[in-house]
Amino acid sequence: MALKIALAGNPNCGKTTLFNGLTGSNQFVGNWPGVTVEKKEGRLKGRKDVTVIDLPGIYSLSPYTLEEVVARNYLLRERPDVIINIIDGTNLERNLYLSTQLLELGIPVVMAVNMADILEKNGDQIHIGKLEEKLGCRVAEISALKGTGIQKAAELAIAAAGGKKPPVVHTFGAEAEYALKEAEGRIGSLVPEEQKRFYAVKLLERDDKIGEQLQQQLEVEDLISGLEKALEDDVESILTNERYVYISSIIKECCTKGKRQAVSVSDQIDKIVTNRILALPIFAVVMGLVYYISVTTIGGWGTNWVNDGVFGEGWHLFGIEGIFVPGIPVLAEAGLQAIGCAEWLQGLVLDGIIGGVGAVLGFVPQMLVLFMFLAFLEACGYMARVAFIMDRIFRKFGLSGKSFIPMLIGTGCGVPGIMASRTIENDRDRKMTIMTTTFIPCGAKLPIIALIAGAFFHNSWWVAFSAFFVGIAAVICSGILLKKTRMFAGDPAPFVMELPAYHMPTLGNVLRSMWERGYSFIKKAGTIILLSAIVLWFLQGFGWVDGAFGMLEEEQLDHSILAAIGNVIAPIFAPLGWGDWKMAVAAVTGLIAKENVVTTFGILFGFGEVAEDGAEIWSILSASMTSVAAYSFLVFNLLCAPCFAAMGAIKREMNNAKWFWFAVGYQTILAYLASLCIYQLGSLFTTGAFGVGTAAAVLIAAMFFYLLVRPRREYGSRAVNVRGMAK
Ligand code: GDP
Ligand code: MG
Repeated sequence: MALKIALAGNPNCGKTTLFNGLTGSNQFVGNWPGVTVEKKEGRLKGRKDVTVIDLPGIYSLSPYTLEEVVARNYLLRERPDVIINIIDGTNLERNLYLSTQLLELGIPVVMAVNMADILEKNGDQIHIGKLEEKLGCRVAEISALKGTGIQKAAELAIAAAGGKKPPVVHTFGAEAEYALKEAEGRIGSLVPEEQKRFYAVKLLERDDKIGEQLQQQLEVEDLISGLEKALEDDVESILTNERYVYISSIIKECCTKGKRQAVSVSDQIDKIVTNRILALPIFAVVMGLVYYISVTTIGGWGTNWVNDGVFGEGWHLFGIEGIFVPGIPVLAEAGLQAIGCAEWLQGLVLDGIIGGVGAVLGFVPQMLVLFMFLAFLEACGYMARVAFIMDRIFRKFGLSGKSFIPMLIGTGCGVPGIMASRTIENDRDRKMTIMTTTFIPCGAKLPIIALIAGAFFHNSWWVAFSAFFVGIAAVICSGILLKKTRMFAGDPAPFVMELPAYHMPTLGNVLRSMWERGYSFIKKAGTIILLSAIVLWFLQGFGWVDGAFGMLEEEQLDHSILAAIGNVIAPIFAPLGWGDWKMAVAAVTGLIAKENVVTTFGILFGFGEVAEDGAEIWSILSASMTSVAAYSFLVFNLLCAPCFAAMGAIKREMNNAKWFWFAVGYQTILAYLASLCIYQLGSLFTTGAFGVGTAAAVLIAAMFFYLLVRPRREYGSRAVNVRGMAK
C-alpha cells in the first residue's frame, strides 16, 4: 500500500514549491472529481511507494469556498496517512488557525514551518522544541524555496504515518469542552474514535454538511444554546476566539522577534504601489511597458525572425555573416517538387498548412515574452496588489475585486479564467464575472492585435495596450450597465485578501508558468488550427466557375465556396467598415479558435507568398479596409463571443441555457455596437464622411452614455454574505 502524504496550508504558504521540491518531475496534474480545482499528485523523490498530494490552499476547514470543500472532503473521505501542514513562518498567527483544525481531524500531522530564509533574514526565531510540545506534533523548519529542511520534513512525515494517532493537545475553555464532550457522546459510534472531536466541533458550529455526512440526524441545539448563553456570544465566535487565544499563547512562548525594520521593504513598496492616486497610473505604466517590450521590441523582433526567416525566405544562424538557413516554405517547396508532388497538394501544404498555421506560429515569440512577464508579475506578488487596487475601482462599478483574478487568468486563456470564477461565492458577482472575463484579451487574441498593429499602425505599442484597456473598459461599463438591471442589483460581496511579501521569483517557476501557457497555444496550432486551415483551404480552393464545380485558379478566389458563404454574412459587418467577405469569414472562423482569424488572413490574403513584414501586409490589406476599419475589426474580435472552448466553459459555469445565450448575445451585441461607433465616428473625424451609419452611431453612443450616467435604481436591499477571512 502506498503511503499518502497530503500537503495542507494557507494559500501562498509555499505548498506548491514544497510539492515541486519533494516530487521533482514525478507529477500528475488533473482536477478534483467534479470540480475544476486543480489537483496535483506526485511520487516522493526516491520513494516510489510514497504519494504526495498538493491540496488547494485554504484558511480553514469550514465549507465556505470551493477550495475548502475540496480539501476538507479529501481529508475526511480519503484520509491520507499523514498531513504535512505547511505554515508561513512569517505569518504564524493566521496560519496556525488552520493548524488547530487539522490537528482535530485525527490524522497524524507534521508541521513544516516555511520561509526559514526570510525568518533568518529578519532575525526572527521559532523554538521548534517548544512548538512541538505546545502543538503535540513534530515540527521541521524548512525553506521550500531554498530546499533546506524539506528532506527532514518528509522523513518526519513518513515516521509519523506509521505512529499512533496524535493526542489532542489543544483544549477549549471549560464550557466549550463540556459541550464538545456531550456532542462526542451523542456521536457515539457513528464515526471512529479519533475523528469524534472534529465532528463534534463541526456540529457545534452548525455545519450542516457535516451533519449530512453522519448517518443519523443529531440534535445539538441545546448544547449550542447552553454554550452561547453561558459565554454570551455566538458559538462560531466563541470557538474562533478560543483558538486565537491558544494561538497567541503559542506565539508568545515559541517565537522571538528579531530587530525588524520598523516598516518592511514590502510595506514601503506598497505605500507607493497601492497609493490611492498613484496605483492606477503605475499599473498602467507597468502594463504599457510589458506590452511595449513583448509586442514591439523583443517579441516583435522574435516574431519578425519567425515570420521572415523560419516561415519566410530564410535566416542566418550566428549573425548576418553566419550560415544561411532557408525558411520552411522554401524547403517544403523544394522538397515537394523534388518528389514530384501534385500541384494541388503543394498548394494545400504551402498555402493552406504552412501559410495558415505559420501565420499563427509567427506570434509565438511575442506570446512567450508576454507570458513570461505576466508570470513574473504574478510570482513576485505584484498581481495580488493589482487585485487589491482593482477591488477599490471595481467596487464602485458594482464588480468585486475577486472578479479580477479570473480576468488575470484569462489573459492566458479564457477557459481557465471563466472556471476560476467558481471561487466567487456570490451568485450575481459570479455571473457578472463569467460574462465579462473574456473581454480581457487572451493569448489567442494576441496574434490579431499584433497583426493589426503591424500592418496598420507601424507596430505601435499603444495598439496592444489599448486592446487591454478596451477590455477593462468593457468590463467596467458592463458592470455599470448590468448593475442597473434588476438581475444584478445589489452591492458586491466584500473581498478580503492577503498581500504576500514581495520576493524575487525563481527563474524556474517563471519559465515553467510561461511554458505551460505557451505550450497549450502551440499544441492548439498543431490540432484545431491545423484542421481549420485545411478545411479553409479546401473551401477557398474549390468553387463554381461558369456553372462548373472544380478547383479554382488563384485569381478566381471570389468564386470559391468560402466566398459564397462569406458574401452572405459580409453585409452584416459592412457598417463596421469591413464588409469584405474575407474579413467576415475571418471573424466567424475566430469562433472556432481566435488564432484562426490570423490563419484565415494568411490563407485568403496569401501571406505565405510575401515576407510577412508589416509594410507588405499593409499594402495587401489596405485595399480592403482603412486603418479605422482595421481598429474596428480588432475591437469586434476582442469583445464578441469568444471561441467555442470558452463558450463551452461559459455554458458549464452558468449551468443554464438562458444565461449562456444572454452572456454570449450580450458580448456580441456590445462588440457590434462598439465597433460600429468606432468605425463611424472614427471615419467622421478622419474623412468627414457622414451618413446614416454615422447618425446611428452618434445616437447609440449618446444612449450608451445616458445609460452609464443614469443613477442606479434601488430594488430594495438584499442580505450580503459578510464574513471575515479567518472564520
Ligand atoms: P502555495 O500557494 O501554497 O502553493 O504557494 P507557492 O508554492 O506557490 O508559493 C508562494 C510564493 O512563496 C512563491 O512565490 C514562492 O516562491 C514563495 N516561497 C515559497 N517558499 C518559500 C521560502 O521558503 N522562502 C521564500 N523566500 N519564499 C518562498
Ligand atoms: Mg499552489
